[in-house]
Amino acid sequence: ESLDQGLQKSSETIFSKLSKAVVGKSTVDEEVLDELEEILITSDVGVDTTIKIINRIEDRVARDKYVNTQELDKLLREEIINLLAENNTQDLLDFELPADKKPYVIMVVGVNGVGKTTTIGKLASLFKNAGKSVVLGAADTFRAAAVDQLILWGKRVDVPVVSHGMNTDPASVAFDAVKQAVDQKVDVVIIDTAGRLHTKVNLMNELGKIKRVMQKFIPDAPHEILLVLDGSTGQNAFIQAKEFSKVTEISALAVTKLDGTAKGGVVIGISDQMKIPVKYIGVGEKMTDLQLFNRKEFVDSLFK
Ligand code: GDP
Repeated sequence: ESLDQGLQKSSETIFSKLSKAVVGKSTVDEEVLDELEEILITSDVGVDTTIKIINRIEDRVARDKYVNTQELDKLLREEIINLLAENNTQDLLDFELPADKKPYVIMVVGVNGVGKTTTIGKLASLFKNAGKSVVLGAADTFRAAAVDQLILWGKRVDVPVVSHGMNTDPASVAFDAVKQAVDQKVDVVIIDTAGRLHTKVNLMNELGKIKRVMQKFIPDAPHEILLVLDGSTGQNAFIQAKEFSKVTEISALAVTKLDGTAKGGVVIGISDQMKIPVKYIGVGEKMTDLQLFNRKEFVDSLFK
């Protein structure tokens, strides 16, 4: 399913709300800006980021004196793209990996239920289709279902999964997965981890230990710490992102479940507030439903 199709399912996109708000209005005035503020907030952009965007638009309206409401759509798109560009300095075009980082180690973190396992499976599939070899590490050993799910994805995508079963030491799984990748000259290792955010100190220690054992083989590993967030949970995703950043550093975001929701605005707010690039977008449950984040494409889909 495409991002467009997904977002279109819900009729209330930013664009449709905006169109309604400017009916009978020719210029962008205080009232229109107030409406716009409301629209962005109800689209889950978040208050702080909304205010930032409104201020920028206000500046442009003040500078140009008169702005036709028909131009507001274009203006808003531009400002959102500019804002996204501050953290997403470049759009990823393909799955090329840095040549000096082999294996490229990705540690995936996120609360249970956000789509972490699914995202790992989809990522493995995308890497594999791009001609890369992949090993998965089932280091979310706290939940039996997580280990089973990852093994299932491994079978589906046809990539090996290193697993020691439930309740085993996550760091030992990570150690073996990275070791196997080094020994077999594999391109990418993706390590699943537990999402027990409610026991922060335990999780922090666990993730710390996973990192340390990886670094026995690869001093600069993990090369990517990917936080998976459920885009359909709106403000909750914000809170999770903030809480996770207390437990570990995060270098990239994957936002899932953006199909069937018009609330893609959460992506804009989280990227802006966390100062972390969005790398992947989940748009469905199937293997192919993961996309590389592209700023313009994304903003266009919000305005369809
Ligand atoms: P985990 O607990 O974080 O590992 O979550 P799972 O990967 O098991 O996913 C939880 C549920 O969300 C499953 O039913 C997935 O199929 C579903 N899911 C994951 N990503 C997406 C997505 O992008 N869109 C939709 N609609 N469902 C998703």
